[in-house]
Amino acid sequence: MTDQSYIQTLRDTGLKVTPQRLSVMRIVLEKPGHFKVEDVYRRIKVSEPTITLATVYNIFKAMTDKGILKSFELDGATWFENNTEVHANLSCENCGKIEDIEIPEIGQLIQKLSNGNYTVRSASIVLKGLCSECTAELSAK
Ligand SMILES: [Zn+2]
Ligand SMILES: [Zn+2]
Repeated sequence: MTDQSYIQTLRDTGLKVTPQRLSVMRIVLEKPGHFKVEDVYRRIKVSEPTITLATVYNIFKAMTDKGILKSFELDGATWFENNTEVHANLSCENCGKIEDIEIPEIGQLIQKLSNGNYTVRSASIVLKGLCSECTAELSAK
């Protein structure tokens, strides 16, 4: 995506356009991925030494409140991701990789609940195990 589309996203959601918000968006919206605030902070600090961890955290919070990002908990840490569709996160306990897997059944369940009397505001599903590479690597030993 381009800066122009990031600026548009901020405007569409009513967030003020700031250089720091754009710096965060260039990292977290560039391609599908899962991010921790500390890691993004460390990357931005290289080019913007005055930015604080609290500022980066607040940017993540504002973007999550506006639905640009989604957050989930994993092993006591808060992760953010740009895939805001309902899906499960597969977390590899060997290499730490997090992959997305679509589960249409959960989307249908949420739809069914919404047609009834329950309002689903968020869904977070984390499956832990070994990714395909680690499974192959460990079984080859
Ligand atoms: Zn793995
Ligand atoms: Zn995900």
